[in-house]
Amino acid sequence: MNSNDFDADRLILVCNDDGIFSPGIRALAEVAKEFGEIAVIAPDRQQSAVGHSITVSDPLRVTPFQIDSQMEGQAVNGTPADCVKLAHDKLMKRKPDLVLSGINHGSNAGINIIYSGTVSAATEATILGYPAIAVSCTEFSESADLAGAQEATRRAIRYILRNTLPPGITLNVNAPAGPLKGMKWARQANSRYVEEFEGRVDPHNKPYFWITGRLEILDEGEDLDLNVLKKGYATITPIQYDLTAHGFYREQHGDLEG
Ligand code: MN
Repeated sequence: MNSNDFDADRLILVCNDDGIFSPGIRALAEVAKEFGEIAVIAPDRQQSAVGHSITVSDPLRVTPFQIDSQMEGQAVNGTPADCVKLAHDKLMKRKPDLVLSGINHGSNAGINIIYSGTVSAATEATILGYPAIAVSCTEFSESADLAGAQEATRRAIRYILRNTLPPGITLNVNAPAGPLKGMKWARQANSRYVEEFEGRVDPHNKPYFWITGRLEILDEGEDLDLNVLKKGYATITPIQYDLTAHGFYREQHGDLEG
């Protein structure tokens, strides 16, 4: 911990998608406390891979929680994006200076970004105008050593404090388990899952399917997030929610005729 990091006037919102009981959010809250006052507002249950979904047909309920002296906050019966939207509008004593989401248990590199609730909490914060970082550890296990992901988080926070992020950009950080070997800027690898469903038969002889899958990289380059992670380094990828294909759009002109 670097004492220059701390600013008592800084308020940091901490969210995730694995829920308030995950070791990852505790590890992230620890780091956030080195930088300022924190507010943990996160899903009350596992919400992985819900993407950017929000709750529109059910009420959202908020329950204050205190797990121990280190971990307290507000639990929401909604998605990660719900948590950030509700925190922004109703649940915080003032607007946050920074929003952190994670530390997710499992990689959010490559195409995982688009399914990720962790990334979407950070993206929602960006939409609302806050600087935001999503952090994930590539090891899925809840007992993974998150020290490297924590150190990667510190570096990403310091980057944001020293350099103003342009509007519309979120930082997506991934780190292998264990100590930090190094951290590199990387781009999202074009990738997809193959062999996604395992079929089984239930006790009533009805078939069911369980999603599995192997990530296939459709891209080449040493700067791909998935390739940098394979070499043991943490990655930091600037991402954006503007989904317009700008390159393609620039080639199109005016009216589309029948
Ligand atoms: Mn998750």
